Amino acid sequence: MSRTITARAPGKINCYFKVGPPREDGYHSVASLYLAVSLYEDVSATGRDDEEIHVSLHPDSTAVSDPDSFPLGPDNLVVKAAMMLREHTGHYAGVDLCITKRVPIAGGMGGGSADAAATLVACNALWGTGLNREELSLLGGRLGADVPFALHGGAAVGLGVGDMLAPLLLRERTDWVLVPASYGLSTPRVYGMLDRLRATEDVSTPTEVDPDMIGALMDADLDALSGLLVNDMTRAALALAPELGVVRDLGEAAGALHALVSGSGPTLALLARDPAHGEEIMNQLSDEAGVATTAVHGPVPGASILPTTEPT
Ligand code: ATP
Repeated sequence: MSRTITARAPGKINCYFKVGPPREDGYHSVASLYLAVSLYEDVSATGRDDEEIHVSLHPDSTAVSDPDSFPLGPDNLVVKAAMMLREHTGHYAGVDLCITKRVPIAGGMGGGSADAAATLVACNALWGTGLNREELSLLGGRLGADVPFALHGGAAVGLGVGDMLAPLLLRERTDWVLVPASYGLSTPRVYGMLDRLRATEDVSTPTEVDPDMIGALMDADLDALSGLLVNDMTRAALALAPELGVVRDLGEAAGALHALVSGSGPTLALLARDPAHGEEIMNQLSDEAGVATTAVHGPVPGASILPTTEPT
């Protein structure tokens, strides 16, 4: 019987996201503070007798409203990750990859990157290819700047195009209420809009994350933190999806300390004082506006293998 290994990787929010002008290579330099949060993607890898790679969606996937539009072919990041591991190690085995998607698709939370990270960890274990986390992270970085962070988890400052990661050892947790949107925003489109909106502005290249922001997160000083959360992508996401502004106002009216667009949006992350306060915000949003939400906290660890449950 074929063995199955399941790995789990977290989605992220960006508590701080400064974006520089477009570079000659088309990318943007950023200064980001990534926080891995307790909304997870699971990828189960099951060995095959041939060399094919197949992808499926687990029925428990809560983040897929339209399964027909979800890519199950070679464009899926899990296929790219498995192929990259095969190329790198020369271990040309086949695999069935089953994704349980909980992170909103094209939601600015790095869900596809989390899938890629979970795939690298699961296939590395299934195939016995023995790469360590750092080696997997170097491979994953070729797929996207967010993959190494999904492998490492926790919290980190990201510079360059988000690929130069420096871990932050946070002792305190913060609580958030996520408001996913029913639609996605393409990350390149949001960057394009930001460039257009800032065409006549003097935009500098960010080189650091505000040390006060890091300090506030380290101390879990929520009052200071709420004034320091920043995301340059907000205005572009709002220009593309004006309804996001309405939800942001609803979140703040429901008592959130701050309503932050995550990455390129459209998921909103509402900062709560503690889990009980998060629940109050969720109830108010649900009762008064019918808005569906998810409670999360961070930091949480990066991609890891889930214990196997023996059949009873
Ligand atoms: P990021 O914040 O990393 O820029 P995102 O979280 O906004 O990205 P994702 O859900 O990671 O967005 O993926 C964006 C697009 O990538 C999707 O619209 C989809 O077409 C494609 N894609 C490829 N593989 C996956 C995957 N495993 N999960 C989700 N999307 C994927």
